[in-house]
Amino acid sequence: MAKIENNLEVIQHHIEQAKQRANTQQQVNIIAVTKQVDVARTEEAIAAGILHLGENRPEGLENKLQAIDSKVSWHYIGSLQTRKVKQVIDRIDYLHSLDRLSLAQEIEKRATKTVKCFVQVNVSGEDSKHGLTNEQAVEFIKQLEQFSKIEVVGLMTMAPFTEDDTVIRNVFKQLKQLQQQVTELSIPNVPCTELSMGMSNDYEIAVEEGATFVRIGTALVG
Ligand SMILES: *Cc1c(COP(=O)(O)O)cnc(C)c1O
Repeated sequence: MAKIENNLEVIQHHIEQAKQRANTQQQVNIIAVTKQVDVARTEEAIAAGILHLGENRPEGLENKLQAIDSKVSWHYIGSLQTRKVKQVIDRIDYLHSLDRLSLAQEIEKRATKTVKCFVQVNVSGEDSKHGLTNEQAVEFIKQLEQFSKIEVVGLMTMAPFTEDDTVIRNVFKQLKQLQQQVTELSIPNVPCTELSMGMSNDYEIAVEEGATFVRIGTALVG
């Protein structure tokens, strides 16, 4: 297994190059997706300088939380069942998978503080993916104004599984456009300044198209 330190250096270099190509200075935060690795490997990522960790199961999250005392931000990146909200919601800093009103209602009921949320959008429209269509996302976000515990910090998407960079880029471009549409609504608890997009195979394209959070598993800790 490659050293995480070395992987991180390569990824950071690629991100810098992508920013230069796109002529942007936006801050890009790397979330180390540790769902498939153990606590020791996660500690190695933190030692290498990682400040954000991503998990997609309540059990995996709890396991890492119990073992790790470092000051890091915890991101829940998987689809969250309504009945698991109670267990998870006060333990995390960011939720990347807000996609339905019933989930928002349960968060409002269970959270003891404001939760930073990304609304998950299925830009590509693939059946296998969670998330709202672009049109549904806008209507959904308008309804979130009533929830005092929810802050919509941004939008999240997953690109389709394809070798075709044009298709991937188009998905990220659409998420950026949707973000602009949402910020124009000027909803108080919807700053929507962030874009969570890009994984091991497509983070460079995502950064070129405006990602502020990339979620990287395999290429970093795998
Ligand atoms: C697993 C996962 C990732 C990381 O995927 P890699 O291809 O290993 O980088 C990112 N986002 C979500 C939502 C995931 O489930």
